[in-house]
Amino acid sequence: MKNQEPDSPLETAERDFIALGIAVAAIILLVGTGGSVLPKALAAVLYSQSKPDVLLVNALLLNVALVIFGWRRYRELTLEIAERKRAEERARLLASTDPLTHCLNRRSMVEATEQARALAAMRGEALAYCMIDLDNFKHINDMHGHTIGDAVLVMLCERVQALLPREAKLARLGGDEFAFVMTYPAGQHERVDDLVIRLFERVSHPFELPELTIELTTSIGLATDYSLDGTIDPVIDAAALMHRADMALYHAKKQGRNRYFWFDASMEHELRFRNQIETGIRQGIARGEFVPFYEQQVDVQTGALLGFEMLARWRSPQLGLIKPEIFVPIAEEIGLITAMSESLMEQAFADAREWDDALTLSINISPVQLRDPWFSQRLLKKLVEANFPPQRLEIEITETCLHENIGLVRTMITSLRNQGIQISLDDFGTGYSSLEHLHNLPFDRIKIDRSFVSELREPDRRSGIVEAIISLGRGLNLPLTVEGVEDEEILNALKSMGRLKAQGYLYGQPEDAVAVRARLRAAGQLNTAAAPERVRDTDDTQTRSRTA
Ligand code: C2E
Ligand code: CA
Ligand code: CA
Repeated sequence: MKNQEPDSPLETAERDFIALGIAVAAIILLVGTGGSVLPKALAAVLYSQSKPDVLLVNALLLNVALVIFGWRRYRELTLEIAERKRAEERARLLASTDPLTHCLNRRSMVEATEQARALAAMRGEALAYCMIDLDNFKHINDMHGHTIGDAVLVMLCERVQALLPREAKLARLGGDEFAFVMTYPAGQHERVDDLVIRLFERVSHPFELPELTIELTTSIGLATDYSLDGTIDPVIDAAALMHRADMALYHAKKQGRNRYFWFDASMEHELRFRNQIETGIRQGIARGEFVPFYEQQVDVQTGALLGFEMLARWRSPQLGLIKPEIFVPIAEEIGLITAMSESLMEQAFADAREWDDALTLSINISPVQLRDPWFSQRLLKKLVEANFPPQRLEIEITETCLHENIGLVRTMITSLRNQGIQISLDDFGTGYSSLEHLHNLPFDRIKIDRSFVSELREPDRRSGIVEAIISLGRGLNLPLTVEGVEDEEILNALKSMGRLKAQGYLYGQPEDAVAVRARLRAAGQLNTAAAPERVRDTDDTQTRSRTA
């Protein structure tokens, strides 16, 4: 290619037109003048006859030069055009393919899907759009570096491509997300199922790299334009198919990854609900809609109130009173659990300062919060700000926390305990915590999950899991709390099992701060130093902490 700036196509066309005109005119002239001049010139040379007119000879030579010029220009042009075509082709290829895997990219996949749709329509076939997402691919990149990550992506792409029908189009949509689109005989979606199952099988083989072996799983979402009533829905265009497959993929991820789902309408509702919750949480934290409720914790033997477990509730203006099972996992996922939890703690510390000093406060801490190396510092700062004695606080962590970073968890537990905070292992027996964890980590208490407690209703099965956990706790010298004490039968069974703390609907449902205050006032268990001021001055914690 020439170095100078390429001319605009219009200029080039104009110049080409002039060059062509000159060449044609020159040829016509050549025929005209050449017809008379050439024989004369030849005769002058061969037979020494009179020379032709100089002017005419010059015109003839000029003609010849012009024809040569025109022809060369024409040659140049054809070469230039071929070169340009090649460059355009290359640019188009680059713009439409993924540079790493050489399959299509996100942009060109829309067009490819529309083309596949047209093809399917012509043949009366259905279209399947499949979204593939690698599970935990980020870990591979983080652990082994991007070069290894890239190599895995390329290998994966080859494996998938090898399984697909010839006409199917495979694209890398970005990162670790792939998609393919294929036509299939309407109504025979099991063909697609078969293909996807084979795909799972292929991907499950370890990826052998020169230095290491990597194992992967994927999640898959599928969508089709074929309706259950046996027709092909013309409304479902490429964009709609992609969106649906995306929702199905999201569903597969939610269900625990390494699986696939076809889109169905319920997923759309689910997603809409989720979005509503997500926006609600964001706004609700700022508006103070998350409030602590408290569940009584009682001494099984004496029936004395020992303290409360704080349980989060969301007073949503649109949705009503919502339980943590709905909003805690979403808050964790969207990175708002710390903000939510800290706002709840502030309220709970202020509430609990009004209670009798002997009453404890337990709070649940999410595994996500424990990943923050500054967690204990933040918590201690909150305690100081609220002037709340750490000895009255108990932190409940679940077994899931223990898989993630046992070293970090141990440091955290140790530094919290050094401040006087108690740590209990919540929902014991529902996760995978090993005896080793129990033995090695300095817990202060085990909480037996309520799912095991209902067995105490059946007198014959008394020597079941609850008893086993209780004797385990005794062996490790750890006190125990039993959740889910719903009726007298359970309570009576527990009474024969020694000293235990218990909580459950038998003692009362979780209630808000106002109800707890009324309960404690009636029982004479309000902290007389803090309570009257709180009544007068409900929001100024600073003043209270100075005067207390
Ligand atoms: P959990 O720690 O196991 O809390 C006990 C759950 O059992 C509470 O449900 C409580 O209302 C319920 N419960 C108590 N007694 C009984 C009973 O006798 N029978 C039955 N069937 N259920 C009983 P809740 O309030 O819906 O909380 C669910 C879970 O949400 C809690 O389980 C806890 O893991 C989590 N959670 C609650 N508040 C927070 C919070 O502030 N932060 C975090 N990270 N998690 C929280
Ligand atoms: Ca708990
Ligand atoms: Ca539990």
